[in-house]
Amino acid sequence: MPRGMYRSRTFRRVKVRTPGGSVVTHYKKRKASPAHCGKCAAKLYAVARGSPSQIRKIAKSSRRPERPYGGVLCSPCARREHISKARS
Ligand SMILES: [Zn+2]
Repeated sequence: MPRGMYRSRTFRRVKVRTPGGSVVTHYKKRKASPAHCGKCAAKLYAVARGSPSQIRKIAKSSRRPERPYGGVLCSPCARREHISKARS
């Protein structure tokens, strides 16, 4: 019986074949949920997903879109924000 913390589905279960030939269960952390828009809560595309240590390993330009509000607002909300900023 695994430890109490591993009995819930908080951790995902991965079957791994050991060098001795037996299959054992490894408990791994689940992937982080995708980033959401700060205004309409829509899912943001082209924004890296994962733990902070995994995200730190990839290039900054591939973490989020390189435009104002990139990785914060979705593109329709960002477009509306630019227009309202220009008009005020
Ligand atoms: Zn939005």
